[in-house]
Amino acid sequence: MKVLVINCGSSSLKYQVLDMTNEQLLCKGLVERIGMEGSVISHTKMGHDKVKKEIEMKDHKDAIAQVLAMVQDPEQGVVKSMDEIGAVGHRVVHAGEKYANSVLIDDSVLEALEECVELAPLHNPPNLLGIHACQALMPNTPMVGVFDTAFHQTMPPHNYLYALPYEYYTKYGIRKYGFHGTSHKYVAQRASAMLNININDLKIITCHLGNGASVSAIKYGKVVDTSMGFTPLQGLVMGTRSGDIDPAIVTYIRKKENLPQGVVNDILNKKSGVLGISGISSDFRDLEEAMAEGNERAELALRVFCQKVRFYIGAYIAEMNGLDALVFTAGVGENSDEMRAHICNEMGNLGIKLDLMKNKVRGQERVISTDDSKVKILLIPTNEELMIARDTYEIVSEL
Ligand code: ADP
Repeated sequence: MKVLVINCGSSSLKYQVLDMTNEQLLCKGLVERIGMEGSVISHTKMGHDKVKKEIEMKDHKDAIAQVLAMVQDPEQGVVKSMDEIGAVGHRVVHAGEKYANSVLIDDSVLEALEECVELAPLHNPPNLLGIHACQALMPNTPMVGVFDTAFHQTMPPHNYLYALPYEYYTKYGIRKYGFHGTSHKYVAQRASAMLNININDLKIITCHLGNGASVSAIKYGKVVDTSMGFTPLQGLVMGTRSGDIDPAIVTYIRKKENLPQGVVNDILNKKSGVLGISGISSDFRDLEEAMAEGNERAELALRVFCQKVRFYIGAYIAEMNGLDALVFTAGVGENSDEMRAHICNEMGNLGIKLDLMKNKVRGQERVISTDDSKVKILLIPTNEELMIARDTYEIVSEL
């Protein structure tokens, strides 16, 4: 069966087609500037050069129609007709407490996801637009929803509850949900396969370090804690997001800077993180370069970032009473040997010893700890699309 994977943002959309008989990626692409001037689709059929086509796409339905046309294109396509696509897997950010696993999308699922719009106002609406557009254009193809929050639903209440009046949880659903779950799940499963140890026998910490970043504690196959919270703003220092701060700072900044409602939220989400501290960039490559040239604030930003990752690693070792595997993934985790080295520095007493030579690697599955390190340190490129396609294939195969 061939599966189309759709990851729909507000003005962009990523897609892939995979052949699930051998999990082979057939093509992938990106649509940008949906609903704006200059909308464009970039498409790569594996083994061929990337092609780019500028074409007006006034909404998500237009965008999906272009994706389907590209996928069936006589030269660039990978199927003769859409009948060959057995299912569509949709990435959806927030499923609240409703789903702990991926599900076949029907009206009741759509209703539940609508209810979660309030919890993820930036993400769920475009995700839903993508589903509706696909349903309109492929009315007979089964669709599956794969949720960023689902894997974290195993967290115990003492880790997901905030110490606020309890009725805020019962009335408004204010609790920790966690995000990047598809990525944390994928790399945890890969770690188990690489070590050839059943996931139910492993204590794993997964560090998803990209523009958005989160750490998860996975004990015997289940998430027990994760660093993102009610929204993806909590936890680690990120590209432009502050991560954990004293909540009193919010009202204080508002008063001092005389800011209207909502602006502080914007500052915490878009102007903080390593960008805020460095004043240079949210991109870790720029910051590493600036640091090498002696820029002190770039160095400080990266130090604060690493320190926070270390903080969570320590906390999660305590929570799980030990650790077998520490996994690095996503843009920074996969590519920056420097950040991995800073994070793992002087953690020998916790059993974490990085091999600096083995660490000189990018974007490949690899054990990068020393032979005598009690904790295995693993570099594992994430693959959320494959995870989505797997869940989709599994659910649709059982229909
Ligand atoms: P997201 O999916 O959250 O947008 P990614 O997982 O793609 O983010 O990660 C993007 C981040 O990865 C950027 O900050 C980028 O600087 C960083 N990155 C990519 N390659 C490198 C590298 N070679 N060295 C350091 N950082 C890198």
